[in-house]
Amino acid sequence: MKVGLDVGGTKTDAVAVDEAGRIVGRVRIPTGWGPDAVAQTVLDAVGALGSEPGVALADVRSVGIGIPGQIEPGSDRVMHAVNLGVEELDLVAAVAPHLGVPVRVENDVKAAALGAYALRAETGRPPASMGYLNLGTGIAAGIVSNGVVWRGARGTAGEVGHISIDPAGPLCRCGQRGCIEAFAGGGLIAERWARRAAHPVRDVFDAADAGDDEARRLRAGLARGVAAGVRVLVLTADVDLVVLGGGVTALGGRLMADVAAELSASADASPFMRSLRLTERVELLPPGSAAAALGAALVGAAPSRDHDAEEALAHG
Ligand SMILES: [Zn+2]
Repeated sequence: MKVGLDVGGTKTDAVAVDEAGRIVGRVRIPTGWGPDAVAQTVLDAVGALGSEPGVALADVRSVGIGIPGQIEPGSDRVMHAVNLGVEELDLVAAVAPHLGVPVRVENDVKAAALGAYALRAETGRPPASMGYLNLGTGIAAGIVSNGVVWRGARGTAGEVGHISIDPAGPLCRCGQRGCIEAFAGGGLIAERWARRAAHPVRDVFDAADAGDDEARRLRAGLARGVAAGVRVLVLTADVDLVVLGGGVTALGGRLMADVAAELSASADASPFMRSLRLTERVELLPPGSAAAALGAALVGAAPSRDHDAEEALAHG
């Protein structure tokens, strides 16, 4: 049995996965703030899984953790996970001695990409390649080819949120203007939407439906940003399929209709774009999917780290 955790800004999702790849237990608990509390959250979540019927912690052979921020290449050090109050944390060193099994850490979007790919493979129609575009506070993607995450030279592959699509566009947190994330990131939409709301992006959609001009602009920008992300993934990696996930996708069909309209507009204008059939290559991750935690479980149980495998290839 293997355990996977998706450590999010507000909650941590943990699953136990059996030998056949089935999720046999799942718990969600609030995520603590700061390095010590995040490490404790991991231990608490694994402990809570142990109380699920069908989960015996003694049978757990590995733990994988998906977490926001950068994972320093060649280490398990988590850097700049600002939404968790973590500037730097050696998460494996903090939790492995208490868990007593091998622990691995992966960037949360890359882990979710692996999980989304695995869920898709279960349907019997695994795509050769898949882009997972995460629409949350920020925007990032994971690219999976034949079941392996494409990391790039420095782990930056898939950071499509910071591709600028409009040099005169809104300022992004990264310092550039008009990034995909500046248009479509839930965090920046919430900042620009003056009204206070529990779910700002949903509030923007509702206000746009009611005819509010600013809401219509923000909503159009969101669709424009997401459609750009889809185009980037297909035009750079020619992925078979782009799966949209993350908190903003709770909007479901309302979001998809807007994105499809954007993609159709570019297809109408260009025979080349039309030939790519983009609207047929975009899917939504089902709401409440355990893809991120499942992907983390796969990372935890992988026989060797990606960079070790690359080393082995490079050195024969
Ligand atoms: Zn940016």
